[in-house]
Amino acid sequence: MKVSPKDPGEVRSTCPYCGVGCGVLLQRAEDGGIAVRGDPDHPANYGRLCSKGSALGETVGLDGRLLTPRVSGIRAGWDETLQLVADRFRRTISDHGPDSVAFYVSGQMLTEDYYVANKLMKGFIGSANIDTNSRLCMASTVAGHKRAFGTDTVPGTYDDLEEADVIVLVGSNLAWCHPVLHQRVLAAKAARGTKIIVVDPRRTATCDGADLHLPLRIGSDVALFNHLLAAIYEGGAIDKEYVRKVDGFDATVTRAMAAQVAPTGLSDRLIARFCDMWMRHEKVVTIFSQGVNQSSAGTDKVNAILNCHLATGRIGKPGMGPFSVTGQPNAMGGREVGGLANTLACHLDLENAEHRAAVRAFWDAPQMPDRPGLKAVDLFRAVSEGRIKALWVMHSNPAVTLPEADAVRDAIAACDFTVVSDITAETDTARLAHVLLPAAAWSEKSGTVTNSDRTISRQRAVRGAPGEARPDWWHMAEVGRRMGWPRAFDYAGPAEIFREHAALSGIAGGFGLDFDISGLAKLSNADYEAMTPVRWPVAARRGGRFFADGQSFHPGGRMRMIPVTWREPAARHAPRFPFRLNTGRIRDQWHTMTRSGLSPRLSAHLAEPFAEIHPEDADRLGIAPDTLTEVTSPSGRAILRAQITDAVQPGTIFAPMHWTGETAPSGRIDALVAAATDPVSGQPESKAAVCSVAPFAAAFHAFAVSSAPLCPAAEYWARARTAHGWRAELAGRSVPDDWEAWARALFGLEETAAEMVVDSTRGIARLAFHEGGRLRAALFAGPEPMGLQRDHLAALPGTEARHTLTGRSPADVPDPGPTLCACFGVGVNTILTAIETEGLMSVDAIGAALSAGTNCGSCRPEIAALLARVGTQEAAE
Ligand code: SF4
Repeated sequence: MKVSPKDPGEVRSTCPYCGVGCGVLLQRAEDGGIAVRGDPDHPANYGRLCSKGSALGETVGLDGRLLTPRVSGIRAGWDETLQLVADRFRRTISDHGPDSVAFYVSGQMLTEDYYVANKLMKGFIGSANIDTNSRLCMASTVAGHKRAFGTDTVPGTYDDLEEADVIVLVGSNLAWCHPVLHQRVLAAKAARGTKIIVVDPRRTATCDGADLHLPLRIGSDVALFNHLLAAIYEGGAIDKEYVRKVDGFDATVTRAMAAQVAPTGLSDRLIARFCDMWMRHEKVVTIFSQGVNQSSAGTDKVNAILNCHLATGRIGKPGMGPFSVTGQPNAMGGREVGGLANTLACHLDLENAEHRAAVRAFWDAPQMPDRPGLKAVDLFRAVSEGRIKALWVMHSNPAVTLPEADAVRDAIAACDFTVVSDITAETDTARLAHVLLPAAAWSEKSGTVTNSDRTISRQRAVRGAPGEARPDWWHMAEVGRRMGWPRAFDYAGPAEIFREHAALSGIAGGFGLDFDISGLAKLSNADYEAMTPVRWPVAARRGGRFFADGQSFHPGGRMRMIPVTWREPAARHAPRFPFRLNTGRIRDQWHTMTRSGLSPRLSAHLAEPFAEIHPEDADRLGIAPDTLTEVTSPSGRAILRAQITDAVQPGTIFAPMHWTGETAPSGRIDALVAAATDPVSGQPESKAAVCSVAPFAAAFHAFAVSSAPLCPAAEYWARARTAHGWRAELAGRSVPDDWEAWARALFGLEETAAEMVVDSTRGIARLAFHEGGRLRAALFAGPEPMGLQRDHLAALPGTEARHTLTGRSPADVPDPGPTLCACFGVGVNTILTAIETEGLMSVDAIGAALSAGTNCGSCRPEIAALLARVGTQEAAE
């Protein structure tokens, strides 16, 4: 790809979404917005961006921003607010002890913010009750790494993807969740024929570019990798020299040999092909993410993968190794500062007295906890039981994202004192807070983040924070000072905090640990400002790569293979709950959509929560395509749009995790997930809840568009942004008596003239409201899901639309269909028509004709799937 070098007016920064950590170039636009493009020099992306990164400029407006501190919902000054927070935390600690307070922080935070949070809680408050939402993302990887390597080191780098002969993706929909890495993998495949294997219960967009897909049964990864290890042993592929440096080899292989493949549900032929490809090529990279981590056996799954790489010595060398990719932009930074309740700082050990003493001396800390604090699920359980009495949530939305989210929401609501730092007050969690602290957002704050391959990059401010918003490190330093530690929290800015963090890492290096960036401890402010991406360690004692020499960080320096045995997911089926619920992300949204949901084009791809259901199950249960389905688990209930597809296996459904009380209250999927955790890592099992599935008996379905926010009052609703307002899907069990009154309440329109067609006998209603000749809002309702040209209708509010009530574009304007390419707004119908009429046979040909897939490339797998679908249909004819 061709990219132009940095312009003088551009500022280098980093994308704030996923753990790929793409570099971006930012430029202030004349209208106050920000132009964003990929940084051609950043080693994570070399100029590429995905749909989310490309749309960053659309998410930086002030819509919904929290601009001032608020106490009990009322605007307050900074001084009184910070004093209140300090007083309440101090009083709670004095009355109930340091373990009666907790911080819940986030992989969204910058390393400098994270560092101050960890120092305040572990060094000065004297509790380890600080945990991060990265617990939900990759805690099992941390635990697995520590068991095998003695510390939490990611051995691989992104460059390995270009050198590998085989890339195995386990529990990783890389095409949607780490799209730029997926582009790098596909580019490697095109350049050198790299084989791609996907191990995933579900056929995802990632499978479209793969050579082999293993649709294993949910949760059976340990059985598969044990079988691989046994095959490696029997096939003579063990690296005998390497395993001499590894403890646990015999016991692990013996356990693997006894393992069964039956739990995987895969055919012998498929498993044999997988093992053959793995063993025949030395350069194998195994990428794994949430499908491995978010499991009650997550740590064992990680070690089952690591065991195979250790047995073959395929680790720490170019083009080979196990490679965890993190979900969050700074999950790795959080791991480095000790943002998890069971770690200290800089990969030092909280339960090691020497490590504790060294950190305590470095911080000049009055007290340090000597045991781990509460991990996320236990932390919120303690909140619900009243053991945590003061809680500070930073940049996270646990009322939506924790398992059993309804109970977590109730617990936060009942907590004696809750502080939330965020950029918006409009989250499910922020609405429950006693105190809201306005935080600086991406593009307004400065600091560092670490991506999945240990590369530390700068995020830089290109404009000042609006209103009274301030950086997170400042919030915490001010509270720390007010709690009685003025010297320890007397920071002038992020550069000073980074230097302290880097200097502390030198202590870790002194103990022989991996995380040592003490080479950066003396950066001047100007050096810090100019800092270019750097992969740690930056005081290398062992050279740039870890583990090629077979040396670990365990005492004695030996690697460890860990014997593991497959076990069922924690939540057990019951007659009432015969399905397994797999959760995950979609291509164009990020977490709870507080930022990505602001972009109309990102919202155009998938605009409401859905459940993928296998055709056999749908048929048996009487669930028709595009109707609504009710999904119930022991802990919650959701109403979701049914997508009937054989991408999921019979007896399982898939539903995304992005929707909230703000966007679709009945789509909060983590309300259904049980609070079962991995016994080692404490990571919740988010991909194997049990549930029932049934049709939702809707008496009416409706679609609405409006230039102003909607106020839905229906059992089901889901709303999304459009270029000129909002769109919403709605449904209910009883038909409104008066459609006009119902629509006026929905749109908040009292006097506006209405044009309407209502047929009460057939249950059909269509209403359009115009003001000054322009469409304000329109509603389409009927007893069945509406067959409307939604994208066309969504563009009408604010225009001089005519004939709105037909629900279709004029006859001479073709219907583009649902948006597939978000960058260029190209719909499915447009692509299908072009394939048919112009004879386009490849993704590149479609790109050349329609531009679709030629910007960020995130939709290329879906274009390929459309081509394949057309090809299959033609073959059948
Ligand atoms: S892959 Fe996309 S979301 Fe992830 S860092 Fe890169 S641009 Fe951002």
